[in-house]
Amino acid sequence: MQSTPLPNLRAAPAPADYPGLELQAVEAAHAAVRASLPRTLAERSAMRPIDLIVIHCSATRSGVRLAPEAETAIDGWHKARGFARLPRAAARLNPNLAHIGYHYVIDLDGRIATGRGLPEPGAHVAGFNARSVGICMVGGAEPVARYTLAQWRALRTLVARLKGELDALARSQVRVCGHRDLSPDTNGDGQVTRQEWLKTCPGFDVAAWLQAGMQPLAVNVLEGGAA
Ligand SMILES: [Zn+2]
Repeated sequence: MQSTPLPNLRAAPAPADYPGLELQAVEAAHAAVRASLPRTLAERSAMRPIDLIVIHCSATRSGVRLAPEAETAIDGWHKARGFARLPRAAARLNPNLAHIGYHYVIDLDGRIATGRGLPEPGAHVAGFNARSVGICMVGGAEPVARYTLAQWRALRTLVARLKGELDALARSQVRVCGHRDLSPDTNGDGQVTRQEWLKTCPGFDVAAWLQAGMQPLAVNVLEGGAA
């Protein structure tokens, strides 16, 4: 049996080390969420209930760019898998991405691309699409994913912004988890453990990340990838 090296538990540099970049990331996250929300009050009140934010990876090598653009590449893969957005929904947001299953894609440089609008159910996790939002981090094919600091910063600001927006809409606490955490609890002990994962996506422990104030472990940070 292969032994797994112990993760390096040293936390990555705090976001306070990058005040200017942090502000940029917050603004970018706000803009992305604003673009995805319904535009009228009537549409907003008719929006589907959302109580789950699911974090994914693109299952490509960590730190490797997707061409021509991450969201366009992913749209192509999802087209090949037979995913399709409703034409009416696609006409409202990102008509060039008619297939993408995620609501957001976070590129290596921290850019947050929108995919589906929030009123549209995604196509990213079987059994949970109706009530969830899907965020995809570019990279993460390895069992221990490594993302750039810019990606971590974007993820933190996006999840915080989204959670605030959705908690207010749902009037309840929205749960944040990783794709692998939604694997079936086959032994019925109330916890989804490593042995039960159907896949490793997104390649990091989302619960631990949340508990650490949305700070990644150093082992999950791509060296030289700081923006
Ligand atoms: Zn996934």
